[in-house]
Amino acid sequence: MAKHIAILGSTGSIGKNSLRVIDALNSSLVACDSSLVSQVTSHGTQGTGYEIVALSAHSSVKRLAEQARRYKPKFVAITNADYYQQLCSELSDLDVEILAGPEGLIEIAQLESVDIVLTAVVGAAGLGAVLAAAQKGKQLAVANKEPLVIAGELLTKTVKENGGTILPVDSEHSAIFQAMLAGSRQEVSKIILTASGGPFRKMSIEDIQNVTLEEALAHPVWDMGPKITVDSATMMNKALEVIEARWLFDMPVEMIEVWIHPESIVHSLVEFVDGSVIAQLGRPDMCLPIQYALTYPERVAGIAEHLRLDEMSKLTFEKPNLEAFRALGLGFEVARAGGTAAAVFNAANEAAVEEFLAGKIKFVRIVELIERCLNKHNVKTNPALEELLDADAWAREQVHKSISMP
Ligand code: MG
Repeated sequence: MAKHIAILGSTGSIGKNSLRVIDALNSSLVACDSSLVSQVTSHGTQGTGYEIVALSAHSSVKRLAEQARRYKPKFVAITNADYYQQLCSELSDLDVEILAGPEGLIEIAQLESVDIVLTAVVGAAGLGAVLAAAQKGKQLAVANKEPLVIAGELLTKTVKENGGTILPVDSEHSAIFQAMLAGSRQEVSKIILTASGGPFRKMSIEDIQNVTLEEALAHPVWDMGPKITVDSATMMNKALEVIEARWLFDMPVEMIEVWIHPESIVHSLVEFVDGSVIAQLGRPDMCLPIQYALTYPERVAGIAEHLRLDEMSKLTFEKPNLEAFRALGLGFEVARAGGTAAAVFNAANEAAVEEFLAGKIKFVRIVELIERCLNKHNVKTNPALEELLDADAWAREQVHKSISMP
Protein backbone atom coordinates (compact mmCIF):
# COMPACT_ATOMS: atom_id res chain seq x y z
CA MET A 1 0.00 0.00 0.00
CA ALA A 2 1.33 3.43 -0.91
CA LYS A 3 2.02 6.14 1.65
CA HIS A 4 0.67 9.51 0.56
CA ILE A 5 2.87 12.46 1.31
CA ALA A 6 2.58 16.24 1.41
CA ILE A 7 5.88 18.13 1.54
CA LEU A 8 5.61 21.63 2.97
CA GLY A 9 8.67 23.50 1.74
CA SER A 10 9.71 21.19 -1.10
CA THR A 11 12.14 23.59 -2.85
CA GLY A 12 14.53 24.12 0.08
CA SER A 13 17.48 21.96 1.04
CA ILE A 14 15.47 19.45 3.11
CA GLY A 15 12.60 19.43 0.62
CA LYS A 16 14.88 18.54 -2.28
CA ASN A 17 16.63 15.82 -0.26
CA SER A 18 13.24 14.40 0.72
CA LEU A 19 12.31 14.07 -2.94
CA ARG A 20 15.64 12.32 -3.64
CA VAL A 21 14.94 9.90 -0.77
CA ILE A 22 11.44 9.21 -2.08
CA ASP A 23 12.79 8.68 -5.63
CA ALA A 24 15.24 6.12 -4.29
CA LEU A 25 12.61 4.35 -2.16
CA ASN A 26 10.31 4.13 -5.17
CA SER A 27 13.04 2.97 -7.57
CA SER A 28 14.19 0.22 -5.19
CA LEU A 29 10.55 -0.84 -5.15
CA VAL A 30 10.62 -1.07 -8.94
CA ALA A 31 13.84 -3.12 -8.78
CA CYS A 32 12.32 -5.40 -6.16
CA ASP A 33 9.14 -5.81 -8.14
CA SER A 34 10.92 -7.01 -11.24
CA SER A 35 13.71 -9.19 -9.90
CA LEU A 36 13.46 -9.88 -6.19
CA VAL A 37 9.83 -10.67 -5.58
CA SER A 38 10.61 -12.72 -2.49
CA GLN A 39 12.27 -9.71 -0.87
CA VAL A 40 9.11 -7.67 -1.28
CA THR A 41 7.16 -10.08 0.83
CA SER A 42 9.82 -10.51 3.49
CA HIS A 43 10.43 -6.77 3.98
CA GLY A 44 7.11 -4.99 4.40
CA THR A 45 8.18 -1.48 3.48
CA GLN A 46 10.05 -2.71 0.41
CA GLY A 47 6.56 -3.10 -0.97
CA THR A 48 5.48 0.40 0.02
CA GLY A 49 5.38 3.08 -2.64
CA TYR A 50 5.54 6.77 -1.79
CA GLU A 51 3.15 9.02 -3.62
CA ILE A 52 3.56 12.80 -3.59
CA VAL A 53 0.12 14.31 -3.16
CA ALA A 54 1.07 17.92 -2.49
CA LEU A 55 4.09 20.23 -2.66
CA SER A 56 4.60 23.78 -1.47
CA ALA A 57 7.13 26.59 -1.73
CA HIS A 58 7.31 30.13 -0.47
CA SER A 59 8.43 31.98 -3.59
CA SER A 60 10.60 29.62 -5.70
CA VAL A 61 8.05 29.45 -8.51
CA LYS A 62 10.30 27.97 -11.20
CA ARG A 63 11.58 25.16 -9.01
CA LEU A 64 8.11 24.36 -7.68
CA ALA A 65 6.79 24.23 -11.25
CA GLU A 66 9.62 21.84 -12.26
CA GLN A 67 8.82 19.61 -9.28
CA ALA A 68 5.11 19.65 -10.15
CA ARG A 69 5.90 18.51 -13.69
CA ARG A 70 8.08 15.72 -12.44
CA TYR A 71 6.04 14.41 -9.49
CA LYS A 72 2.52 15.21 -10.71
CA PRO A 73 1.08 16.12 -7.29
CA LYS A 74 -2.66 16.81 -7.12
CA PHE A 75 -2.02 20.06 -5.22
CA VAL A 76 0.67 22.72 -5.11
CA ALA A 77 0.73 25.76 -2.82
CA ILE A 78 2.76 28.95 -3.05
CA THR A 79 2.69 30.73 0.30
CA ASN A 80 3.78 34.09 -1.07
CA ALA A 81 0.56 34.91 -2.92
CA ASP A 82 2.35 37.48 -5.12
CA TYR A 83 3.64 34.54 -7.16
CA TYR A 84 0.26 32.86 -7.58
CA GLN A 85 -0.44 34.16 -11.10
CA GLN A 86 3.05 33.26 -12.29
CA LEU A 87 2.68 29.72 -10.94
CA CYS A 88 -0.73 29.39 -12.61
CA SER A 89 0.70 30.33 -16.00
CA GLU A 90 3.73 28.05 -15.51
CA LEU A 91 1.42 25.11 -14.85
CA SER A 92 -1.51 26.02 -17.10
CA ASP A 93 -1.23 22.75 -19.07
CA LEU A 94 -1.10 20.56 -15.95
CA ASP A 95 -4.00 18.98 -14.09
CA VAL A 96 -3.11 20.34 -10.66
CA GLU A 97 -4.96 22.43 -8.11
CA ILE A 98 -2.97 25.56 -7.26
CA LEU A 99 -3.36 27.19 -3.86
CA ALA A 100 -1.87 30.36 -2.41
CA GLY A 101 -1.00 32.00 0.89
CA PRO A 102 -0.79 30.53 4.39
CA GLU A 103 -4.37 29.22 3.92
CA GLY A 104 -3.17 27.21 0.95
CA LEU A 105 -0.49 25.62 3.10
CA ILE A 106 -3.06 24.76 5.79
CA GLU A 107 -5.32 23.23 3.15
CA ILE A 108 -2.68 20.83 1.87
CA ALA A 109 -1.64 19.94 5.44
CA GLN A 110 -5.19 18.78 6.14
CA LEU A 111 -5.96 16.90 2.92
CA GLU A 112 -7.98 13.76 3.52
CA SER A 113 -5.78 11.80 1.08
CA VAL A 114 -2.50 12.62 2.88
CA ASP A 115 -0.96 10.21 5.43
CA ILE A 116 2.39 11.89 6.12
CA VAL A 117 2.98 15.63 6.29
CA LEU A 118 6.68 16.40 5.99
CA THR A 119 7.33 19.95 7.09
CA ALA A 120 10.47 21.76 6.01
CA VAL A 121 9.26 25.35 5.92
CA VAL A 122 11.99 27.80 6.94
CA GLY A 123 11.23 29.81 10.06
CA ALA A 124 7.95 30.39 11.86
CA ALA A 125 5.89 30.50 8.66
CA GLY A 126 4.76 26.85 8.70
CA LEU A 127 3.44 26.81 12.26
CA GLY A 128 -0.26 27.18 11.42
CA ALA A 129 -0.10 24.38 8.86
CA VAL A 130 1.72 21.99 11.22
CA LEU A 131 -0.90 22.56 13.91
CA ALA A 132 -3.63 22.08 11.31
CA ALA A 133 -2.10 18.73 10.28
CA ALA A 134 -1.88 17.71 13.95
CA GLN A 135 -5.58 18.48 14.38
CA LYS A 136 -6.31 15.95 11.64
CA GLY A 137 -4.19 13.30 13.38
CA LYS A 138 -1.64 13.14 10.57
CA GLN A 139 1.76 11.53 10.90
CA LEU A 140 4.08 14.52 11.09
CA ALA A 141 7.68 14.34 9.92
CA VAL A 142 9.08 17.58 11.29
CA ALA A 143 12.32 18.77 9.72
CA ASN A 144 12.26 22.40 10.77
CA LYS A 145 12.52 22.99 14.48
CA GLU A 146 10.26 26.04 14.76
CA PRO A 147 6.92 24.28 15.31
CA LEU A 148 8.29 22.45 18.36
CA VAL A 149 10.31 25.44 19.54
CA ILE A 150 7.57 28.04 19.30
CA ALA A 151 4.55 25.91 20.09
CA GLY A 152 6.00 22.73 21.57
CA GLU A 153 3.51 22.46 24.38
CA LEU A 154 0.49 23.21 22.18
CA LEU A 155 1.67 21.01 19.30
CA THR A 156 2.49 17.91 21.36
CA LYS A 157 -0.85 18.24 23.16
CA THR A 158 -2.72 18.57 19.85
CA VAL A 159 -0.93 15.54 18.40
CA LYS A 160 -1.80 13.45 21.46
CA GLU A 161 -5.46 14.52 21.52
CA ASN A 162 -5.96 13.68 17.85
CA GLY A 163 -4.12 10.37 17.74
CA GLY A 164 -1.30 11.55 15.47
CA THR A 165 2.45 11.09 15.75
CA ILE A 166 5.52 13.30 15.43
CA LEU A 167 8.66 11.84 13.93
CA PRO A 168 11.76 14.01 14.07
CA VAL A 169 13.79 14.66 10.93
CA ASP A 170 16.33 16.92 12.63
CA SER A 171 19.40 14.64 12.74
CA GLU A 172 20.02 14.94 16.50
CA HIS A 173 16.40 14.31 17.41
CA SER A 174 16.17 11.42 15.00
CA ALA A 175 19.23 9.96 16.75
CA ILE A 176 17.64 10.40 20.19
CA PHE A 177 14.36 8.96 18.93
CA GLN A 178 16.22 5.89 17.64
CA ALA A 179 18.33 5.50 20.78
CA MET A 180 15.27 5.80 23.03
CA LEU A 181 13.93 2.60 21.49
CA ALA A 182 16.55 0.72 23.56
CA GLY A 183 14.59 1.20 26.78
CA SER A 184 11.44 2.69 28.25
CA ARG A 185 10.94 6.41 28.81
CA GLN A 186 11.23 5.95 32.60
CA GLU A 187 14.62 4.27 32.17
CA VAL A 188 16.18 7.32 30.49
CA SER A 189 18.46 9.32 32.76
CA LYS A 190 19.81 11.87 30.29
CA ILE A 191 19.73 12.87 26.66
CA ILE A 192 22.87 14.29 25.11
CA LEU A 193 22.64 16.43 21.99
CA THR A 194 25.82 16.69 19.98
CA ALA A 195 26.83 19.89 18.19
CA SER A 196 29.42 20.37 15.47
CA GLY A 197 30.31 23.67 17.14
CA GLY A 198 30.17 25.51 13.82
CA PRO A 199 33.03 27.37 12.12
CA PHE A 200 33.95 29.49 15.18
CA ARG A 201 34.20 26.69 17.71
CA LYS A 202 37.82 27.40 18.59
CA MET A 203 37.47 31.17 18.80
CA SER A 204 37.55 33.35 21.90
CA ILE A 205 34.94 36.04 22.56
CA GLU A 206 37.42 38.61 21.20
CA ASP A 207 38.04 36.76 17.92
CA ILE A 208 34.33 36.35 17.30
CA GLN A 209 33.84 40.13 17.34
CA ASN A 210 35.24 40.49 13.85
CA VAL A 211 34.00 37.47 11.89
CA THR A 212 32.50 38.19 8.47
CA LEU A 213 29.33 37.07 6.71
CA GLU A 214 31.35 34.79 4.40
CA GLU A 215 33.06 33.12 7.36
CA ALA A 216 29.72 32.55 9.08
CA LEU A 217 28.31 30.94 5.94
CA ALA A 218 31.16 28.44 5.57
CA HIS A 219 30.08 25.49 7.70
CA PRO A 220 32.83 22.87 8.13
CA VAL A 221 30.63 19.76 7.95
CA TRP A 222 26.99 20.22 7.04
CA ASP A 223 25.80 21.70 3.77
CA MET A 224 22.63 23.63 4.66
CA GLY A 225 20.65 26.77 3.84
CA PRO A 226 22.06 30.21 4.86
CA LYS A 227 19.77 30.81 7.86
CA ILE A 228 20.53 27.50 9.57
CA THR A 229 24.24 27.87 8.75
CA VAL A 230 24.35 31.18 10.61
CA ASP A 231 22.37 29.55 13.46
CA SER A 232 25.06 26.90 13.62
CA ALA A 233 27.80 29.55 13.84
CA THR A 234 26.07 31.34 16.77
CA MET A 235 25.09 27.92 18.25
CA MET A 236 21.55 29.25 18.23
CA ASN A 237 20.73 26.11 16.25
CA LYS A 238 21.67 23.95 19.24
CA ALA A 239 19.82 26.28 21.62
CA LEU A 240 16.66 25.79 19.57
CA GLU A 241 17.30 22.04 19.50
CA VAL A 242 17.40 21.92 23.31
CA ILE A 243 13.90 23.45 23.35
CA GLU A 244 12.79 21.12 20.56
CA ALA A 245 14.03 18.07 22.50
CA ARG A 246 12.39 19.26 25.70
CA TRP A 247 8.94 19.07 24.05
CA LEU A 248 9.45 16.25 21.57
CA PHE A 249 10.62 13.83 24.27
CA ASP A 250 8.73 15.47 27.17
CA MET A 251 12.04 15.77 28.98
CA PRO A 252 12.83 18.19 31.83
CA VAL A 253 15.58 20.65 30.88
CA GLU A 254 17.79 19.29 33.68
CA MET A 255 18.02 15.98 31.81
CA ILE A 256 19.30 17.55 28.57
CA GLU A 257 22.99 18.12 27.86
CA VAL A 258 24.91 19.50 24.89
CA TRP A 259 28.42 18.38 23.93
CA ILE A 260 30.57 19.61 21.06
CA HIS A 261 31.44 16.81 18.66
CA PRO A 262 33.15 18.39 15.63
CA GLU A 263 33.25 15.20 13.53
CA SER A 264 29.42 15.07 13.42
CA ILE A 265 29.38 11.27 13.31
CA VAL A 266 27.64 10.59 16.62
CA HIS A 267 24.34 12.36 16.00
CA SER A 268 23.22 12.24 19.65
CA LEU A 269 23.11 9.89 22.64
CA VAL A 270 20.75 8.65 25.33
CA GLU A 271 21.96 7.59 28.76
CA PHE A 272 19.86 5.07 30.68
CA VAL A 273 19.60 4.67 34.46
CA ASP A 274 21.93 1.66 34.48
CA GLY A 275 24.69 3.75 32.92
CA SER A 276 24.37 2.36 29.41
CA VAL A 277 24.73 4.98 26.70
CA ILE A 278 23.07 4.30 23.35
CA ALA A 279 24.09 6.47 20.42
CA GLN A 280 23.16 6.69 16.76
CA LEU A 281 26.05 7.12 14.32
CA GLY A 282 26.16 7.85 10.63
CA ARG A 283 27.66 10.09 8.02
CA PRO A 284 26.51 13.70 8.17
CA ASP A 285 23.80 13.25 5.56
CA MET A 286 20.20 14.39 6.07
CA CYS A 287 18.92 11.65 3.75
CA LEU A 288 19.18 9.12 6.57
CA PRO A 289 16.95 10.89 9.15
CA ILE A 290 14.53 11.89 6.38
CA GLN A 291 14.23 8.29 5.23
CA TYR A 292 13.80 6.90 8.74
CA ALA A 293 10.93 9.33 9.39
CA LEU A 294 9.23 8.05 6.22
CA THR A 295 9.82 4.31 6.64
CA TYR A 296 9.48 4.11 10.46
CA PRO A 297 9.01 1.67 12.15
CA GLU A 298 10.91 -0.19 9.46
CA ARG A 299 14.40 0.27 8.05
CA VAL A 300 15.11 -0.22 4.36
CA ALA A 301 18.16 0.16 2.14
CA GLY A 302 18.47 3.72 0.86
CA ILE A 303 20.78 6.32 -0.65
CA ALA A 304 22.63 7.36 2.50
CA GLU A 305 26.27 6.32 2.26
CA HIS A 306 27.28 3.84 4.93
CA LEU A 307 29.73 4.67 7.67
CA ARG A 308 33.20 3.14 7.47
CA LEU A 309 34.71 2.76 10.90
CA ASP A 310 38.30 2.78 9.60
CA GLU A 311 37.70 6.28 8.23
CA MET A 312 37.09 7.63 11.69
CA SER A 313 40.52 8.27 13.14
CA LYS A 314 38.97 9.47 16.36
CA LEU A 315 35.76 10.83 17.76
CA THR A 316 36.12 13.78 20.11
CA PHE A 317 33.78 15.44 22.56
CA GLU A 318 34.22 18.67 24.47
CA LYS A 319 32.15 20.93 26.71
CA PRO A 320 30.72 23.94 24.89
CA ASN A 321 32.13 27.37 25.74
CA LEU A 322 29.02 29.01 27.15
CA GLU A 323 30.78 32.33 27.53
CA ALA A 324 31.71 32.66 23.86
CA PHE A 325 28.44 31.08 22.73
CA ARG A 326 25.92 32.92 24.88
CA ALA A 327 23.02 31.72 22.68
CA LEU A 328 23.32 28.20 24.05
CA GLY A 329 23.01 29.30 27.68
CA LEU A 330 20.02 31.42 26.72
CA GLY A 331 18.45 28.36 25.09
CA PHE A 332 18.48 26.45 28.38
CA GLU A 333 17.02 29.48 30.21
CA VAL A 334 14.26 29.83 27.62
CA ALA A 335 13.46 26.10 27.72
CA ARG A 336 13.06 26.42 31.49
CA ALA A 337 10.88 29.54 31.25
CA GLY A 338 8.37 27.93 28.84
CA GLY A 339 5.25 29.87 27.76
CA THR A 340 5.88 32.54 25.13
CA ALA A 341 9.65 32.82 25.83
CA ALA A 342 10.73 30.46 23.04
CA ALA A 343 8.51 32.22 20.48
CA VAL A 344 10.32 35.47 21.29
CA PHE A 345 13.72 33.75 21.29
CA ASN A 346 13.14 32.22 17.87
CA ALA A 347 11.56 35.28 16.24
CA ALA A 348 14.23 37.67 17.54
CA ASN A 349 16.83 35.34 16.08
CA GLU A 350 15.09 35.14 12.68
CA ALA A 351 14.88 38.94 12.52
CA ALA A 352 18.49 39.42 13.62
CA VAL A 353 19.82 36.81 11.17
CA GLU A 354 17.87 38.50 8.38
CA GLU A 355 19.66 41.78 9.21
CA PHE A 356 23.00 39.99 9.40
CA LEU A 357 22.50 38.27 6.02
CA ALA A 358 21.59 41.66 4.56
CA GLY A 359 24.94 42.97 5.79
CA LYS A 360 23.35 45.42 8.22
CA ILE A 361 24.75 44.16 11.52
CA LYS A 362 27.86 42.44 12.81
CA PHE A 363 27.80 38.77 13.73
CA VAL A 364 27.98 39.36 17.50
CA ARG A 365 24.99 41.71 17.38
CA ILE A 366 22.69 38.75 16.58
CA VAL A 367 22.78 37.27 20.07
CA GLU A 368 22.95 40.70 21.77
CA LEU A 369 19.69 41.65 20.09
CA ILE A 370 18.04 38.36 21.06
CA GLU A 371 19.03 38.73 24.70
CA ARG A 372 17.85 42.32 24.85
CA CYS A 373 14.52 41.28 23.42
CA LEU A 374 14.12 38.43 25.94
CA ASN A 375 14.89 40.78 28.82
CA LYS A 376 12.09 43.11 27.72
CA HIS A 377 9.51 40.33 27.31
CA ASN A 378 6.90 39.40 29.91
CA VAL A 379 6.46 35.64 29.55
CA LYS A 380 2.86 34.41 29.27
CA THR A 381 2.22 30.84 30.42
CA ASN A 382 -0.03 28.34 28.61
CA PRO A 383 -0.25 30.49 25.50
CA ALA A 384 -2.77 29.91 22.70
CA LEU A 385 -1.62 30.08 19.07
CA GLU A 386 -2.69 33.74 18.83
CA GLU A 387 -0.55 34.72 21.82
CA LEU A 388 2.44 32.85 20.41
CA LEU A 389 2.07 34.64 17.09
CA ASP A 390 1.71 38.00 18.89
CA ALA A 391 4.91 37.31 20.85
CA ASP A 392 6.62 36.35 17.59
CA ALA A 393 5.53 39.56 15.84
CA TRP A 394 6.46 41.69 18.85
CA ALA A 395 9.99 40.25 18.96
CA ARG A 396 10.61 40.86 15.24
CA GLU A 397 9.43 44.44 15.58
CA GLN A 398 11.71 44.99 18.59
CA VAL A 399 14.75 43.74 16.70
CA HIS A 400 14.14 45.70 13.52
CA LYS A 401 13.35 48.82 15.55
CA SER A 402 16.55 48.68 17.56
CA ILE A 403 18.58 48.29 14.35
CA SER A 404 16.97 51.23 12.59
CA MET A 405 17.69 53.45 15.60
CA PRO A 406 21.02 55.26 15.24
MG1 MG B 1 20.02 19.45 13.87
